[in-house]
Order: sequence, then C-alpha cells, then structure tokens
Amino acid sequence: MQSQNLHQLVADQNSFFNTNSSKEIGFRIKQLKLLKSILKANEEAMNAAIYADFKKSKFDTFTNELALLYLDIDEAISKVRKWSKRKRVRTNMINFPAKSFIYPEPLGTCLVIGAWNYPIQLSFAPVIAAIAAGNTVVLKPSEVPSATSEIIAKMINDNFDASFFHVVEGGVEVTTNLLELKWDKIFFTGSVNVGKIVYKAAAQNLTPVTLELGGKSPAFITKSCNLDVAVKRLVWGKFLNAGQTCIAPDYVMVDASIKDEFLEKLKQRIIEMDFAFKNENYVQIINDKNYQRLKEMIDEEKLYYQGDFDESNRYFPPVIMHDVTFEDDVMQEEIFGPILPVITYDNISEAISAVKKLPKPLACYVFTGQRSVKHRIIDELSFGGGAVNDAIMHIVNSNLPFGGVGNSGIGNYHGKAGFDTFSHQKSVLDKATWLDPSIKYPPYSLKKLKIIRWIMGV
Ligand code: NAD
Repeated sequence: MQSQNLHQLVADQNSFFNTNSSKEIGFRIKQLKLLKSILKANEEAMNAAIYADFKKSKFDTFTNELALLYLDIDEAISKVRKWSKRKRVRTNMINFPAKSFIYPEPLGTCLVIGAWNYPIQLSFAPVIAAIAAGNTVVLKPSEVPSATSEIIAKMINDNFDASFFHVVEGGVEVTTNLLELKWDKIFFTGSVNVGKIVYKAAAQNLTPVTLELGGKSPAFITKSCNLDVAVKRLVWGKFLNAGQTCIAPDYVMVDASIKDEFLEKLKQRIIEMDFAFKNENYVQIINDKNYQRLKEMIDEEKLYYQGDFDESNRYFPPVIMHDVTFEDDVMQEEIFGPILPVITYDNISEAISAVKKLPKPLACYVFTGQRSVKHRIIDELSFGGGAVNDAIMHIVNSNLPFGGVGNSGIGNYHGKAGFDTFSHQKSVLDKATWLDPSIKYPPYSLKKLKIIRWIMGV
C-alpha cells in the first residue's frame, strides 16, 4: 500500500473512531463474533497457507494458533461489559463531598505488528484485545510466512470495513511507512532490535507502545525435581514449533550431581519421540537463512546428541549440546530453533547469579520438588513469566498477564490484561455542590493551615 493511502487509512479510522461507534459494547461484541465466524469459515484456507509456509500440521495450527484465539474471543465477548464498566473507588476526606470513578476508555486508532513464528495467533490475539477495548485497528502481519499473510489480509479485508479494521501486508518498507504515521497505540511482537526501532518511532508522537520481544529463557533442572516428568515437559516445550517459540526454554541449567542422568534421559526421550521430529509431525525452519544460522551455532566438540538433518525440507532435528559455557557462540543470542545447550552448575546461588548477568528473559522454568529453590528463583530472578515444573503452558492461562520485562519487552496482554493494554484509565472526581468549604480559598491563615493538617493527620 502506498504511503499516501496509509495516511488516508489512518484518517478514515480516526474519523470512524470519532463517531464513537467502536465504543459501543454491542458493536464490539458483534465485531468479535464476526471475527470468530471468519476464522472458523477459513480454517481450511489457513491450514493450507501455514502448511505452505513452514509445514505446520493441522493439529499444530489448531492447538497453537486457533484454539487460543477462539478462547480469547469467547472470553472477551462474555466479559467485555464488565471490563468496560466504570469502577467506583474511595474518595479521600479532602475531597468530601464527592464520588470517584475510573472509566476505561479506548485509546483510538491502533497499529498491531505481528511476528512470523505463530503468524495467526500473534496477529489476532492483540487485535481481539484492541477490539474488545473499543479501538480501531490496522494489522501488519509478518511478511515472512507469505501465504499466511495473504490469507489473513484476504479474510479481514473482504469482511471488515477498512475504517474499523484493516490488514496491510508488507515488510520493512511498509512497516517503516506505517511507523511514520501518528497512532494512538502501537503493539509490536518481534525481535529486540526491531523493537528498538518501533519504540524510537513511537517516541516521535509520544505513542504508547507494548513491545512483546524475545530473549534467552532458562530452564533450571534441579536435583530435587521429578526428572522423568521434567524431561518430558522440557522436550515438548523446547521442540514445539521446532524451537521457534518466543517462550521456548532456550538453554538448560542443570545441577552437576544429576547432569549425566538428565542428559541420558533427555536423549532417550528424543529418540523415543523420533516420529515427532519428522514429516507431517514436525515444523520446518522458516527459511534457509535461519537454517544456516542455526547450523552455525552447533559446536561439534560440545555435541551430545543430534537427530537426522533433512536440509532439503528444512527439517532441523533436536540437537543437545553439553558442557556449554556462557562464553560459547550458542549463548550469545536467542537460539529460536531446536538446539538445546546444557550448562552445569554446582550450587543454585551460582546458577542464579550467572543467569542474572544476562538480559532479563521473557520466560523462566524451574523444575524442582523443593519449595525453597522454587521461591529463590522466582524471587531473585526477574523474568516476564514462567512456570514451575512445566514449560510454555503459562501462556494458556489468560488470567496470567503475558509479556516481558527489560530487554524481553514492555507491557503485557491476554484476557483482562489485554483489554487494559488497549485502554486508558480515565480518572474522574465527581463533586457535589451542596457544600463548598471556604478552607481552600484565600485569604489563607494559620488557623486554616491547622485544620488542613488536622484533616490530613500530619
Ligand atoms: P522481527 O523483529 O524480525 O519482525 C517482526 C515484525 O517487524 C515483522 O512484522 C516485520 O515485518 C517487522 N520488521 C522487521 N524488520 C523491521 C524494520 N527494520 N523496521 C520496521 N519493521 C520491521 O521478528 P520475527 O523474526 O518475526 O520474530 C522473531 C522474534 O520475535 C524473536 O526474537 C522472538 O522471541 C520474538 N517473539 C516474541 C514474542 C512474544 O510474545 N514476546 C512472540 C513471538 C516472537
């Protein structure tokens, strides 16, 4: 889309927003229902597109992409009335007689920029929150899975009025043009580097941003954990979507006393699950560039186990590296693929301080049977969110706000948190007129000061 047309699109959305139609609860619910019906009607087309892009199976497309969206839409429909109600709060003595309220109000015209790894879910989850909160939306899905981007644009642009919700396809150039426009909110999912570009562009107009970024998320395997369960859940979480998951366990910190047993069980589990890393059960690496980037991360000297490579189909097998240190190449950037480096520690204090030296991760997983260890890791490490004795699954609970901290992001969403992310909390003091104490008006005196201090209790 030409930059001139983008200007017009935003102007049209601003005009529509100013009619107040998108604020009506009935309108919001109707649009959410429409979105759900469009998604349902286009499931086959989405399956085909996402399979063409990186061979994601129907099962994965439903469970990792669509199921979460259907749950989000249903929750928003059933709770939007409650979420958007003004909330009465206490009024302090100094303002007597008055009532105080918080009105959640939509921000206006919002830009949502998606990432490629879960291209449907990461595009629509923020959109659902934006619509529920009463905004208008322009969505720019990732251009990398091109067939998926195309079907997203077709589904939406054929069924929604562009002045309310529109999809703009494109890569860096289009996104750059979009970022030059004035938005009321920008919601970005993607890498730390592009997150900085988005933040800088938003600053020009003081536009509020949510940045859902990535990073290196650790998994602690402690000596008190149920190792069999830990290994099963870790393997599932790491190799889901071939490791191309923002909250995948990036690397393992394992207690030295169980290192050998852990590595052996890990290898056995991967061998046992071999069928899951082949053909229609597995996901391709998104493109050749990433395939090569991942291959270069493998240090042959530290290789513990690797499955079979199928480069022509861009299938990258699970790879385990051991005796890894924080200085190794594989520890210098987010892996975003099925390579699992294992670092050994002698005591938990040492492990925590080593992880603390890295930027704050998006997720952290603690496998342990010991309460004190669990609490130490949760209390002492800063991370976006995570799980105890599991991986990934915290994302599925919409009562848990999802987002990063520090380098892994700004802000959060899902469920009510998503609604709040796309709302402004407007505070209003509603004062009665039957009493207007003269104390706040001049002339001031020591007596008045005394009364003020008495009211305040200082
Ligand atoms: P990316 O930053 O390359 O791209 C994200 C979006 O930004 C795309 O829509 C792309 O078109 C646009 N973009 C790319 N370069 C740009 C530029 N120079 N200027 C303006 N826009 C630009 O990220 P990606 O490769 O799609 O996704 C992978 C990253 O996203 C990983 O770091 C991963 O951890 C992170 N991620 C985070 C979450 C989360 O919820 N926190 C979810 C998925 C992925």
